[in-house]
Amino acid sequence: MQKNDILSIKAYAKINLAIDVIRKRPDNYHEVKMIMQSIDLFDIINLKDYDNDIKITSENKDVPLDETNLAYKAAQILKEYTNISQGVQINIDKKIPIAAGLAGGSADAAAVLIGLNKLWNLNLDLDILMKLGATLGSDVPFCLKGGTILATGRGEILTPLNNLPDLFVILVKPKFDVSTAWVYNNFARNKVKKTPNIENMIIGLKENNITKIVENSANVLESVTIEKYPEIEKIKEILNNEESLLTLMSGSGPTVFALIDNLAKATAIVEQLKSKADFNHEIFLVKTTKRGYFI
Ligand code: ATP
Repeated sequence: MQKNDILSIKAYAKINLAIDVIRKRPDNYHEVKMIMQSIDLFDIINLKDYDNDIKITSENKDVPLDETNLAYKAAQILKEYTNISQGVQINIDKKIPIAAGLAGGSADAAAVLIGLNKLWNLNLDLDILMKLGATLGSDVPFCLKGGTILATGRGEILTPLNNLPDLFVILVKPKFDVSTAWVYNNFARNKVKKTPNIENMIIGLKENNITKIVENSANVLESVTIEKYPEIEKIKEILNNEESLLTLMSGSGPTVFALIDNLAKATAIVEQLKSKADFNHEIFLVKTTKRGYFI
């Protein structure tokens, strides 16, 4: 690459096909068991050489521009690990809603790790990037791989699964943000209504049996987030029509997704929702994807 060239990377969001919380660990993290799925809703990360510093820019005023940005932290950790003096300007074209349960920040961090490995000719292998990424956030290793993956431990121990068949995904994001830390801190097992059977879901993925996958799915964090924001239950009810294979909250919320197997049906649902006068949530129609990023 020439100096001043821009390297662009697509950073894909994720949904959770299932989340179970196993226990609270002595280090205060929660041990989880989740099935993660990449979707083709993406931020675009543009990287450009920049003296010795790290500089974040974004048109979106809600994106932090300081060292708290996970993209900044990703560049910083690579600089520290490799002792490289080069800097980088990171422009974040934000499409993934923030604090939505879609791992937008983690996706950006993963894209920066991949992009700088190339821009700075570091030749670090994926295992090293995943180890560095895990120190930034539990979802970063997943975003470096993408597809359909079982995540255990804090979410950083990954086992690739058979891919979910290609499906359309309707995402509905209410106006409020949810803090992941708050949800985990308020988790109480006795309030959970449905626990996923993740082993059966894995068998369902192997057999390409969508009924087995969706029947065994659940997100135990719904019990926390929906109690505080009953609006999420209302969105689930609206999306949970006969066309929807699965309707679930993603991550710690508040985004709700519906899986649909047919574009015409999915488009009709989206158009109908958009035409409702009292429907004031953000809505997206995307597809599942087998990638975590595209460079
Ligand atoms: P997860 O599902 O992994 O918990 P999320 O989708 O709920 O993530 P993010 O969009 O990653 O949440 O944002 C969570 C917080 O992280 C926000 O409050 C935001 O200020 C901060 N943040 C740091 N870096 C970024 C980034 N690159 N993009 C968006 N938010 C970021």
